[in-house]
Amino acid sequence: MAPKDAALPEPSFRESVDIMFNRAVALMDLSPGLEEKIRVCNATYTVRFGVRLRGAIHTFVGYRSVHSEHMEPVKGGIRYATGVNQDEVEALAALMTYKCALVEAPFGGSKGGLCIDPRDWEEHELEQITRRFAYELAKRDLINPSQNVPAPDMGTGEREMAWIADQYRRMNTTDINSAACVTGKPVNAGGIQGRTEATGRGVQYALQEFFRHEEDKKAAGLSGTLAGKRVVVQGLGNVGYHAAKFLSQEDGSKITGIIERDGALHDEDGIDVDAVRDWIVKHGGVAGYPDASHRVNGAELLEIDCDILIPAALEGVINMSNAERIKAPLIIEAANGPVTAGADEILQKKGCVIIPDMYANAGGVTVSYFEWVKNLSHIRFGRMQRRAEEARHELIVSELERLDDMLEHRWSMTPDFKQKYLRGAGELELVRSGLDDTMRSAYQAMREVWHSRADVKDLRTAAYLVSIRKVADSYRAKGL
Ligand code: GLU
Repeated sequence: MAPKDAALPEPSFRESVDIMFNRAVALMDLSPGLEEKIRVCNATYTVRFGVRLRGAIHTFVGYRSVHSEHMEPVKGGIRYATGVNQDEVEALAALMTYKCALVEAPFGGSKGGLCIDPRDWEEHELEQITRRFAYELAKRDLINPSQNVPAPDMGTGEREMAWIADQYRRMNTTDINSAACVTGKPVNAGGIQGRTEATGRGVQYALQEFFRHEEDKKAAGLSGTLAGKRVVVQGLGNVGYHAAKFLSQEDGSKITGIIERDGALHDEDGIDVDAVRDWIVKHGGVAGYPDASHRVNGAELLEIDCDILIPAALEGVINMSNAERIKAPLIIEAANGPVTAGADEILQKKGCVIIPDMYANAGGVTVSYFEWVKNLSHIRFGRMQRRAEEARHELIVSELERLDDMLEHRWSMTPDFKQKYLRGAGELELVRSGLDDTMRSAYQAMREVWHSRADVKDLRTAAYLVSIRKVADSYRAKGL
């Protein structure tokens, strides 16, 4: 399929992913057979199940799509939203394949979804629905520690993952690895520290890495550090909230716009992300928030002047109808598929740099990988090493103190050095270190292709090249 011309109608989400894939494979030397094998979705299972609720039987429609099994288990979230459909889960499953390959998480790609508005149901009803959905998937090995490992996505979180894990456990009472059947669980139910904020943290680490490279900043017409940069974020859900919070509180960026379902907030002096999040929890939306101006048409704010635009909600929000008017020189795709293939071409022509979804939001699956390894090894990271590491550091510090005494205090350690140096790394520090390392390495792999090949004009194509190459190598190694 050739890249669509801007005058043609917007392709569907899955077509959009395929167009971007095709753009990349056109620059590779894969055999057409292997190219086709990697591109297509292996299978999509549709389930319709009934649950008796409020005195009547309600039928729900759910999906689990498996894109590629070049590595197993396959991995990817389960989304709860009314717009869930087969095209969407297949596009998202394909992105999971490329994402996992790019960040070297040893999984194939999968994705699931349930057509439901979680706000329509009470917690105990959602539990019944989730358990029934999990039962349907687990009985077909579409939830299984060695074959298919779901995780949270839009509309789901650790509460749903705990129900799924428990449901699987009830169905597999002798499986010692049952906790590894799903990731994103609460820490007290086999989860890992730092998973909830992992995708937002990954977005922050991705931007920090981007800002380490002068050439890359220059490509976007930016300079300096993240401090003071004007950031507009679309969607203050789990991903958008954490990304905006970390960027404003730790890197000194200014959140000048927040776009939500019921409009947008704008303040060039910066918006307090935590205060807005609290407001949304209390009032159900951003309208009425006193410390920023409110616009009813939120989408307009995507088009304001800013340094960094973070679409962190749905797919397709930057499309052929608004791409021309987007002013941000740098877009980081915290959501999956927020920029359509048509919009991508328009933005590239305008010189906008896009940090692509399969890299930008890979923090979630990266920490999911750590959680899965933790579950399979049945031990928390750092449990064996932490105190031994502290004891060794203690040796050095007391030796330095002895020398300090001997030299009659002619030099001394900086006041908090001792305290900082003595502290051994716990699970959270290790998770952050592993995530930071992953985001740095994956970015470097992408930028190396971006800058070394004249025919690669953008980071997305570079990301596809890196990940498709890895998937192709796995298939070849399997003898396909
Ligand atoms: N749903 C997340 C994603 O789209 C996380 C997937 C996972 O942790 O398996 O990347």
